Amino acid sequence: MIRLDDGNVLPSILYYHRVSPDVSFDVGVTPEVFRSQMMFLKSQGLSGTTLAEGMKANSHKETCILTFDDGYLDNYEHAAPILEEVGFRATIFCVSDRLGRLTDWSEDPDWKGIPLMAEEEVRDLSSRGFEIGSHTRTHCDLGALSRTDPLQARREIFDSRMELEDLLGKPVTSFCYPYGGWTETAVQWVREAGYRQARSVQHARWGKTYDMYLLPCRPVSGKMPFWRFGWYARLWRLGL
Ligand SMILES: [Zn+2]
Repeated sequence: MIRLDDGNVLPSILYYHRVSPDVSFDVGVTPEVFRSQMMFLKSQGLSGTTLAEGMKANSHKETCILTFDDGYLDNYEHAAPILEEVGFRATIFCVSDRLGRLTDWSEDPDWKGIPLMAEEEVRDLSSRGFEIGSHTRTHCDLGALSRTDPLQARREIFDSRMELEDLLGKPVTSFCYPYGGWTETAVQWVREAGYRQARSVQHARWGKTYDMYLLPCRPVSGKMPFWRFGWYARLWRLGL
């Protein structure tokens, strides 16, 4: 669970990137591994939900929040059908100016040139109960940009929300900082832009409390052994 500064308690948050048969261990899991992880959560009495729903639910022992960064096309092709099979939903953080294009924010071959969901897929997932959150317009590092070009950084936060809301015709209330980059000013803009919660990439620690605009998570890649995934799920089920 996540304990907030205001005393409230939230379900724990898992954080994924890609789900694809040929994915490298560093950036994702195969559909087989993903399915067995989701089945395991279900077998433990946990259900997977969106960040917005998880903020409302007073059920941190029965729920975990599932999040996916960047909006990869493979989330649409592989992750969403598996989630629907087990009755779960998730939040997918999309880069609003890159929909339907290839990733262009990294030179690392594992991350470069990967297909992202187009408008149709994003709209379709939203209509199927998945939450679409903002991950800025261009996947910029707000930790750096809010210092070097504050106006542009502000636009990345405000305009990505407007663009996604125009596309979906519904409020976009969740935000996620690319690379986990943030400053106090950037967090303030995320609040001002009207988001209600935001996820960082810091790892959740026991005994620590968190701001709801800097929520911690547990990253999952192909490098996480199954026993460790199972261990987290059992702890959450116990309300830890
Ligand atoms: Zn990202």
